[in-house]
Amino acid sequence: MQAAGCLKVNGLQGGRRARHRGIFRLLRLPGVWVKKVRFEPDRVIVEVALKRRRLVCPLCEYSTAARKDTRPQDSVWRHLDLGVWRLEVHCRRRRLWCPVHGARTEGVPFARRGSEFTRDFECLVAWLATRTDKSTIRRMLRVDWDTVGRIIKRVCDEELDPDRLNGLYDIGVDEVSWKRQHKYLTLVVDHQRRQVMWGCEGSGQAAADEFFAELDPTPDAAPEPASRPRRPPEPAIMIPFGSCPTVPAGHGIPGAWLEPGVEIDPAIFARASRLRAVSMDMGPGYAKSVRAHAPQAVICIDPYHVVQLANQALDEVRRAYRNELRSLGDQQAAKRFKDSRWSLLKKPEKLTDQQAATLARLKAAGGEVWRAYELKQAVRGMFESGLSIEDVEALIARLLSRLARSRLQPFLRLGSTIRKHRAGILAAIRLGINQGRTEALNNKVRLITRRAYGFHSAKAALALVLLTCGPITLHLPHEPHALGIGTH
Ligand SMILES: [Zn+2]
Repeated sequence: MQAAGCLKVNGLQGGRRARHRGIFRLLRLPGVWVKKVRFEPDRVIVEVALKRRRLVCPLCEYSTAARKDTRPQDSVWRHLDLGVWRLEVHCRRRRLWCPVHGARTEGVPFARRGSEFTRDFECLVAWLATRTDKSTIRRMLRVDWDTVGRIIKRVCDEELDPDRLNGLYDIGVDEVSWKRQHKYLTLVVDHQRRQVMWGCEGSGQAAADEFFAELDPTPDAAPEPASRPRRPPEPAIMIPFGSCPTVPAGHGIPGAWLEPGVEIDPAIFARASRLRAVSMDMGPGYAKSVRAHAPQAVICIDPYHVVQLANQALDEVRRAYRNELRSLGDQQAAKRFKDSRWSLLKKPEKLTDQQAATLARLKAAGGEVWRAYELKQAVRGMFESGLSIEDVEALIARLLSRLARSRLQPFLRLGSTIRKHRAGILAAIRLGINQGRTEALNNKVRLITRRAYGFHSAKAALALVLLTCGPITLHLPHEPHALGIGTH
């Protein structure tokens, strides 16, 4: 009567029920009861049914007792492995008619919409993805990397704090390449929380414009909240003068003293109007966008980028010198020089013994490479912590004259760039946009985006950055605040 491989039950309905209750507790899936458990050669299949009688739209909170029909086949989700067994949850789902979304298959409480994995499984994947590499995850969980990408995208969409763009005062906008061949993500960092708060695909002015559009959506462009299809219109509210905490940012609301149909200037509530400082690189794109959307914000140049430019200038000098040695036929010296790259670029306190020795040799040899190195160190020195703004002003003045006299083309160029952005560099120091901290976050972001190179979609790469460096705390399925547990 039973299919071969079915769980042997002592011939008693009661015994089977008890066994299924055991499985039910073992799986800890919210909102279901277990109908049947089957063993197949490579997996365990648990058939479940939803406890609730009403059908719930997967896209909103609409629920109804009326079923449209039932899907002809089971839906399948992968759950956390049971020991070495792969575990599948099967459920026959009904369909409903939502007045807003039309015909839909009912949502289930234990999995996200459109997913083939349970919330517990996705939670484990997301946690691992922020901590370990691609091959470990693929082998351990038996999923491919693009599936990981889709999972973390879903987790990120759901778990990212929707209020994270409130209370931004000092931010940084920067681009990071997430794939070879010039594919970029633009990220917005909150300097106070030291977290990545927002990101999008692309770079430059258009990307920053996208950020401001999301920071202060125009009322018409703001998407209707999908969760409540038939909400009565809200009564008009009287708002006091000054900013009002109960009015959502960016939305002018008809005030009692205004002519009917006239709205208060949304700028009064705009979140962009609260930005004090925006730090960025020395390109024109982000600055243009900030001037248009947050004209009151001080544009600062991230110290990180200034030091990066100095490093590039040094590297140019080093390469030119190496090529010169090579063209003179001194292959041995040229090769030694190639190895010197890290000795020159790393912070002196972080050099290995051998790199320090190389650096000492370069110093003894003198010449333009050593001069370039000293100039680079001087640039870095401007951003040492504990310097007053007057100190830095003096250091910049001295540095600019040294650069102008350097007779090294890359450093002459660096000098004119620093001169052009002098005000922005000083503003960063005045407002305390600290090089060490921004660099630490930057390094973390770059490490993560290298891991994301394997993803096919920019959205997955972005989700990994936000999960790792954003305002989210990920938990494991057994931890008390694990995603999805207790919320259904
Ligand atoms: Zn709906």
